[in-house]
Amino acid sequence: MTHQSGRHFLQIPGPTNVPDRVLRAIDNATVDHRGPEFQRMSREVLAGLKEVFRTRSPVVVFPASGTGAWEAALVNTLSPGDRVLMVETGHFATLWQNMAQKLGLAPEFIKGDWRHGADPAAIEARLAEDAKREIKAVCVVHNETSTGVTSRIAEVRKAIDRAGHPALFMVDTISSLASIDYRHDEWGVDVTVAGSQKGLMLPPGLSFNAVSGKALAAAKGAKLPRSYWNWEEMIAANRDGWFPYTPATNLLYGLRVALRMLLEEEGLENVFRRHDRHAEAARRAVRAWGLEIFCASPAEYSGSLTAVLMPGGAGEIEFRRVVLEHFNLSLGSGLSRLRDKVFRIGHLGDFNDLMLCGTLCGIEMGLALAGVPHRKGGVAAAMDYLAGGAAAGEKARAAA
Ligand SMILES: *Cc1c(COP(=O)(O)O)cnc(C)c1O
Repeated sequence: MTHQSGRHFLQIPGPTNVPDRVLRAIDNATVDHRGPEFQRMSREVLAGLKEVFRTRSPVVVFPASGTGAWEAALVNTLSPGDRVLMVETGHFATLWQNMAQKLGLAPEFIKGDWRHGADPAAIEARLAEDAKREIKAVCVVHNETSTGVTSRIAEVRKAIDRAGHPALFMVDTISSLASIDYRHDEWGVDVTVAGSQKGLMLPPGLSFNAVSGKALAAAKGAKLPRSYWNWEEMIAANRDGWFPYTPATNLLYGLRVALRMLLEEEGLENVFRRHDRHAEAARRAVRAWGLEIFCASPAEYSGSLTAVLMPGGAGEIEFRRVVLEHFNLSLGSGLSRLRDKVFRIGHLGDFNDLMLCGTLCGIEMGLALAGVPHRKGGVAAAMDYLAGGAAAGEKARAAA
């Protein structure tokens, strides 16, 4: 490997770039997690998390990757053999479904083509058929990170309500929380699953469950075995700022800084607008290159990443190899059935216009170097949009 000068461009859709301030916060001496300094910090962090999830309910923090929070959501609320309705939006939805099977649940998988989000009408129809109320939970991935397709969570909630069905509603927001508008309480979600290494701008290692009162009530009768993932002990200890086992103290230092950046300095609404704007610029680049955006439904475009179909349906692995070797830029790969077929541009987390332009430059040069059929002008199209948007912003500020 030759020496690479300058910064690595980490533009996979998670883990994302960690701000220097967050890294510096993590790089502090570890304190006693049963002492007063820790207690002050964990109270601030647990309160800030509720704002990010837009909930008044408890948010539980596990020292684990996102996969742990998937498991926690299922084992705290369900019993062996319970039916759960899941939706095949892509690779991550499939993994969650596989996990449900391994845990001894009976998942039903609504088939999908991976290019569309969960269909609220299909969920409503299946729930309406379930006269005996055997389905105990509906599980949807908000932002399918393998495809760049979002699901309309508020509409899924309405579909469940139209069917008058009592199932719990669980949503994976691992790659949407703090990037794409999300509201745990308003959308009537019972368990929201999230992780640290995407929109929250931290390294991997923390995962979260926001837990509604209905989910807590379900936990009382749920019979799947659980110990490490048990909400009850966690929530009881959290009330005073403690944890039932050693928390990931230094990641929590980082989370405190990330929450201040998101909530106090930038503001969540601005965070969402920034992501939408970068996503739109990325899509304009893709169209100008003459390439195809993998998401087939514009209402479901992702604000956190854009998946791009390789012309001719192959060559993603070699293309990404060329881009990494020449430009020290990591792009997301095609996962499972999309292997070698799509590459993914992560534009979430701590990110700005020039980072996006640099990323798109690396892609445009890489397409040429790897001999991928395309047109020039993607970067220019993105720049036009970004500069136009910036000019409009200046005008609005001047007028205010
Ligand atoms: C990243 C991701 C996961 C998996 O999280 P890990 O931290 O790798 O365990 C699950 N679901 C979605 C939507 C993701 O983006």
